[in-house]
Amino acid sequence: MRIRTELGCSDAWICLCGNTPIDEGFYPCNREGEEIEPTPEEWTTHCYVCDRCGRIIQLDTLEVVGVRSNNTLTVDERKDIQPVVLHKTPRLQNPTGAVHQI
Ligand SMILES: [Zn+2]
Repeated sequence: MRIRTELGCSDAWICLCGNTPIDEGFYPCNREGEEIEPTPEEWTTHCYVCDRCGRIIQLDTLEVVGVRSNNTLTVDERKDIQPVVLHKTPRLQNPTGAVHQI
């Protein structure tokens, strides 16, 4: 689930709730959706939080990657959000579940 931007203007975000930068706006946030200072040390997520609905949006992909605890989403809206694993650790899975012994 991604947010939209105005045509020809990738900075003009339109959240799924209808919020735009000139309404409630978007603020740099951490993984929990708490507002933080956009310094390289603090701002490691490159995420913004929508100050109307509380969705957490990834800056590069415009993907909704979560919601802060103080959000206005319904249960159904929250189901559409796929939590994005920021640091993927590849894990080999054996589909049969069988244990191979050497
Ligand atoms: Zn929103």
